[in-house]
Amino acid sequence: MNVQTFTYQVTGGQPAYPTVTRESRYRGPVPRVLTLEELDSYRTNMPEAEKEAYLRRVRRVIDNPNLCGPGMLPSTILVMIGQVLGGMGRLAEAEEAMTDAVTMEKAEGEPHPGAWLAGFLVQQDRYDDATQVFADVRLDNEAGPGEYDIYAGAYESADEFEKAETTYLIGIRIAEREGDTWHGDSLRAGLERLRKKVEPAEADGDDHAQQLLDAAGLALFWPRAEHAEALRRWPHLAQWLGEDWDEHRRNVECALADFQAQGIWPLILMADPDDYLAELRGEPDRRSLAVYAMSIPDEDPVSWPPESDEPCWCGSGRDYEVCCTLPAND
Ligand SMILES: [Zn+2]
Repeated sequence: MNVQTFTYQVTGGQPAYPTVTRESRYRGPVPRVLTLEELDSYRTNMPEAEKEAYLRRVRRVIDNPNLCGPGMLPSTILVMIGQVLGGMGRLAEAEEAMTDAVTMEKAEGEPHPGAWLAGFLVQQDRYDDATQVFADVRLDNEAGPGEYDIYAGAYESADEFEKAETTYLIGIRIAEREGDTWHGDSLRAGLERLRKKVEPAEADGDDHAQQLLDAAGLALFWPRAEHAEALRRWPHLAQWLGEDWDEHRRNVECALADFQAQGIWPLILMADPDDYLAELRGEPDRRSLAVYAMSIPDEDPVSWPPESDEPCWCGSGRDYEVCCTLPAND
C-alpha cells in the first residue's frame, strides 16, 4: 500500500511538470529586448551548441535597434558578435562585424569598438593592421585607459610581451592624467602580471616603445647637468640623447614641433639619471629610454611651446625666441 502510494505520487506528479514548458520557452517567436547583462552573460559562458541561436537573436536586435536595452547600441552588440564568431573560428565574419561596429555610433561609457578590433587583429598576428586601427582610435581622441587596457591585454595574450609592456605603460600614464583610478588599477595589475611572466626584454630593435611615446606627444628632456651625468654614466646613449646638450635641446625642440604639426598636444618630461637607473630593466638603449619616459608621472609636465618672451623650456634662463625656437620656414 505504501509502495503504491509512493508510485502514484511520482507518476501523478509528472503532468504537473510538462516537458514542453522548457521547450516552449525557447520557441517563443517574440524577440525580447536585449539587455547588457544578458549580452555579457552570453559572451562569458555560452554553451557551444547555443552560439548559432545566439547569433540569430542578436542579429535581429541589430536589425531592430528598438530591441537594444538601455545603455546599449548596435555597435556594442556587433563587437560581441565579432568576439563570439572569432571564438568559433569564423574569422572573416568576426572581422566584418567588428569593422562595422567601428563605423557606428559608440555607446556612452563603453570602450571604443576600434580597441576590440585592434585586439582581435593582434590575436591573428596582424600587428600592422592592429597598429593602424588603434592609431585611428587615437586620432579620434578615443584612446583612453580602457582602450589601452584592451589593446595591451591582446598583446599579452599573444605573448608579445614587449608590446604589451609599453602599451600598459602608456595606458597607465593616460589613466593618471585623467584621474581614472579604476582603469589605472586594472592596467597596473596587467603590467605586474606581465612582469612576473617574463624576463626583461632583450633589445631587438623594436621601436614600439618609441612609437607609443611619439603617439602621446611626449618628449624626454635631460636638463644640462642631468644630460652631462647621463652621458658620463652611459656614453653610448649619446646616439639618442645628442653628443652635447645643444644637440639634445635641438632634437627635443624638433620632436615637439613635429608633434604639434601632427595635431598632437606636446609635453616635455624631465629626465633624471638616478630615476632612469631605477627603472632600467635590461640594457640602457633607445627602448629603455622610451620605457623610462612612460614611467615619469604626469604630475608637473612642461607644456610647449612657451610664449616667445617667456623663459625657454630648456631652463637656460633665456627667452624662448632667442633660445630653442627653430628658425621660421625651416
Ligand atoms: Zn632653450
